[in-house]
Amino acid sequence: MGDNSDVTPKGAWSGADGLALTLAYLEDPSSVPCPTCGSETVEVVDFVDPTSLGDRPPVRVSPEGDYAVILYCHACERAAAIRLSQEPHGGHREAA
Ligand SMILES: [Zn+2]
Repeated sequence: MGDNSDVTPKGAWSGADGLALTLAYLEDPSSVPCPTCGSETVEVVDFVDPTSLGDRPPVRVSPEGDYAVILYCHACERAAAIRLSQEPHGGHREAA
């Protein structure tokens, strides 16, 4: 969580792997396995404003409401930004 270091993914997971990561995160944010490495090598790097994902650096936010979580696997050095829209008033989810 450095101040001026942005998140620079060295690679990306596939869409299916990204979905697996999303489901794993939703199930247990403290234990997200890497779809490739399959062990506890994934770190939750940061929480950012999903509308700022195209920016460098993205805007950091608290993990509540509409946010995206940045996950990084130390084993295969891949990162993913997972958008989680959690509207407190009625389950509205925005399509990305
Ligand atoms: Zn991995």
